[in-house]
Amino acid sequence: MDEKSTTPTRIYPSTPLEQPVLPNEQQQALLPPAPPTYTQATGAAPTTTGQNTSHVVVITPGAPLVYGPAPVDIQCPYCHNYTRTRLRFRPTSRTHLIALLLCLFQLYCFVCLPYCIGSCMNTAHYCGMCDRYLGTYVRE
Ligand SMILES: [Zn+2]
Repeated sequence: MDEKSTTPTRIYPSTPLEQPVLPNEQQQALLPPAPPTYTQATGAAPTTTGQNTSHVVVITPGAPLVYGPAPVDIQCPYCHNYTRTRLRFRPTSRTHLIALLLCLFQLYCFVCLPYCIGSCMNTAHYCGMCDRYLGTYVRE
């Protein structure tokens, strides 16, 4: 009869089960003290010199432009419109050489292939507005 009267105190503990393992004061003691801020250590306001590194690309019209294998946005020197160049592929002696080699190896079905692949030919750039010739990207 004495045991039945003591069991309710064991079932309901006074402290909740989801208590943190370390109390807040012990966690503060484990961490090192926070270092002073820059303004506290030096007594001066932080400067931002050397961090403003912005690159400005200046495009001068009429300057010689190096054309690449992809269309480029330029100002046309003839019609002065800002446009994207139109590409036309032109076969070179290298294109004909590849086709000749394909003939020599009796791969006649693939002879037209170097004339269809743009990377086997030079790339001529034309103005997208007035369609005048602007320059050529020559493959090495
Ligand atoms: Zn043009």
